Amino acid sequence: MSAEGEAEGPSVSEAERFWSPALRGLHAYTPGEQPQGGGWIKLNTNENPYPPSPLALRRMAEAVDDRLRLYPDPQSLALRQTIAARQGLQVEQVFVGNGSDEVLAHAFMGLLRHGKPVLVPDISYSFYPVYCGLYGIACQQLPLDDGFRVRVADYVQPNGGIVLPNPNAPTGIGLPLGELRWLLERNTGSVVVVDEAYVDFGAESAAALINEFPQLLVIQTLSKSRALAGLRVGFALGHVDLIQALNTVKDSFNSYPLDRVAQAGAQAALEDTLHFADITRRIVHSREWLAAQLAELGFECLPSSANFLLARHPQRSAVQLQQALRERKILVRHFKQARIAEHLRITVGSQPECEALVHALSALLVPTPHDNKVASL
Ligand code: PMP
Repeated sequence: MSAEGEAEGPSVSEAERFWSPALRGLHAYTPGEQPQGGGWIKLNTNENPYPPSPLALRRMAEAVDDRLRLYPDPQSLALRQTIAARQGLQVEQVFVGNGSDEVLAHAFMGLLRHGKPVLVPDISYSFYPVYCGLYGIACQQLPLDDGFRVRVADYVQPNGGIVLPNPNAPTGIGLPLGELRWLLERNTGSVVVVDEAYVDFGAESAAALINEFPQLLVIQTLSKSRALAGLRVGFALGHVDLIQALNTVKDSFNSYPLDRVAQAGAQAALEDTLHFADITRRIVHSREWLAAQLAELGFECLPSSANFLLARHPQRSAVQLQQALRERKILVRHFKQARIAEHLRITVGSQPECEALVHALSALLVPTPHDNKVASL
């Protein structure tokens, strides 16, 4: 105890001086809400509404045994072999990490720090500027066109690297492979990262271009189409030298990013192609249904190749709609950013979840005698 009788130990503000200077002014990423307790319809973080592959669940249960005493395979060799075989690549062209966020972080650190700005779309995954901030990289955000599309020609300019999600998030709009090829042919002096977190819901993968373009790094995840967000597995595909850079960062950071259970589960999930095809088909079906229903309710929806829709209602405040849905235990995501501040990003749930959302929105938007357009919320 101190002389005044107060508990010892510095207050938070006093201890802030111990922070590394690089942390000051850093704007960290804000993940979507993960509410405690049940009863929510979660359409806010682009998770898969369906369970993971039963084969993956079984293999993970089998992996929980006495071998947990031991460190896992630091190379995740069996998993990388499975990925390589599926993609028609060599195992040395595959890197795995603790979620594609970690793979992206290693790519920023290991491949995109060249003293020149990294080019990203202005409306895109908000983690990219965060990695730039963390690693001291200048981030140049290039505006999407009026239809919220990436204009690849804008990216033909000096840069330290290019990062494009395909489909883009949160717009859901896909980039045709021909346009990406056009850009790769012109941008040969820096790495082009294509973040394919949502590619399995309808976009074209650039993995087919890897052996043609040594500057191309494709990143995918098991979080979305494989319904394994909780397992944290992502991977990168590219030229062996790019993969070697990621391995060097990994082994300077954490040699065991994937535990034994995650390696077993991810491998099985990739092998279970029937389950994968079934759940992605269902989500695409519900996405088209939901887009049509939202249009009926007066929403303007961007054409999505992902497992979410970005939609706005011309007469409704997005924040108020989000709040009103929240009161009905339905979560959707809102971003304060200019140009999309009146949009909601709605994850495609199971068909009953999509129906519950449409039901709630119909009730919120019903015309009343006191309102010549729609009821106030
Ligand atoms: N890229 C994009 C575009 C995303 O939306 C996400 C999910 N938030 C990720 C990467 C990261 O996904 P994960 O770390 O779960 O693989």
